[in-house]
Amino acid sequence: NADVVPQAPEDPLFGLMAAFRRDEDPKKVDLGIGAYRDDNAKPWVLPVVKKADEILRSDPNLNHEYLPIAGLADFTTASQKLILGADSPAIKEKRVASLQTISGTGAVHLGALFLAKFYRTNSQRTAYFSDPTWVNHFQIFKNVHLDYLTYPYFSAKTRGLDFEGMVNTIRNAAEGSIIVLHACAHNPTGVDPTQEQWKEICKVMQEKKHFPFFDCAYQGFASGDLAKDAWAVRYFIDQGFELCIAQSYAKNFGLYGERAGCFHFVTSAASDAETTVTRIASQLAILQRSEISNPPAYGARIASTVLNNKELFAEWEADLRTMSGRIIEMRKALRSKLEELGTPGTWNHITDQIGMFSYTGLSEAQVLKIRSDSHVYMTKNGRISMAGLNTHNVDYFAHAVDKVVRE
Ligand code: PMP
Repeated sequence: NADVVPQAPEDPLFGLMAAFRRDEDPKKVDLGIGAYRDDNAKPWVLPVVKKADEILRSDPNLNHEYLPIAGLADFTTASQKLILGADSPAIKEKRVASLQTISGTGAVHLGALFLAKFYRTNSQRTAYFSDPTWVNHFQIFKNVHLDYLTYPYFSAKTRGLDFEGMVNTIRNAAEGSIIVLHACAHNPTGVDPTQEQWKEICKVMQEKKHFPFFDCAYQGFASGDLAKDAWAVRYFIDQGFELCIAQSYAKNFGLYGERAGCFHFVTSAASDAETTVTRIASQLAILQRSEISNPPAYGARIASTVLNNKELFAEWEADLRTMSGRIIEMRKALRSKLEELGTPGTWNHITDQIGMFSYTGLSEAQVLKIRSDSHVYMTKNGRISMAGLNTHNVDYFAHAVDKVVRE
């Protein structure tokens, strides 16, 4: 009987988008949605994606057959190279099992499902998320019945990393815990560990035999440099870890709705690594089969066309620099306007943080006030999507912040 199903709350982010659409004020600003916008607040199709699309459409042999269960092989192989580095020993030694997934969400889900079935099945196991984290982590892990806790991450005082809190909690976690890490451009805070801090985190995780689960949704989008944004993942693999990676092409290719992503399981260098990977891949395929049968083709074809062509790849890197560069410019513009206005508080965190999001430090009350007074929409935790700012609205937004902070 269907009347036992209770009403679920509205997804806060999608509710915010709906409220923005209803607002008729011409000055309204959308800083909620985590999608890139150009300087006119419009979605941006990457020029290289347009090119790849034309190439695909002009292929007379293109059809709509199913992809294999593990997805498009040219795409998953290129995805390995992208995140691990083309000359990664893990690739050469065939230590990586990769499956195409429903974007990053699907990759996180497939990884969580796999771990729920095979990771330390006879002992206590807990996953740790950063506090705060991408909210979907909680729901995804809950759905597969994996327990989770959080480690401190964001310091409200410095608006930077609570490094000590993070490392202490990871050190005190039960041996062999699953530690979920954002590879770069942490969502929602925009705060990343430095390379020195990553090394320390890595050391503690090694001591405690923890299992790293990297969520990588912003490679190349964060700094404009693909290798730099993959540094932490590559460093952990160099240190001998067995780990998994959820890779999304939503932001860095602007393929949001096409759901292109990849899941990788990397085993450590052992003599039987290749057979271990074969076994792991076979189990992942069984899970994938029952969940989605096979992944969607279009986005993977676009990404694969670009990733496997030297010239298109270089054009893609230029597009990445366009997006990351515009966002970095907006960070500078916002900070300098707030400083020029003498807005109470410090604003260096706006330019210290990286990627799509910034944790402004505004309280929930201030967020609601700025929404009703100035028609600026951001999530209640004070997170803004930097991509929603542009040369036409950044001063307006700075004035709105200034007003609400002084009230
Ligand atoms: N992980 C993180 C940390 C994210 O920010 C996102 C995008 N919001 C994702 C995963 C997955 O997004 P998608 O499924 O659109 O690739």
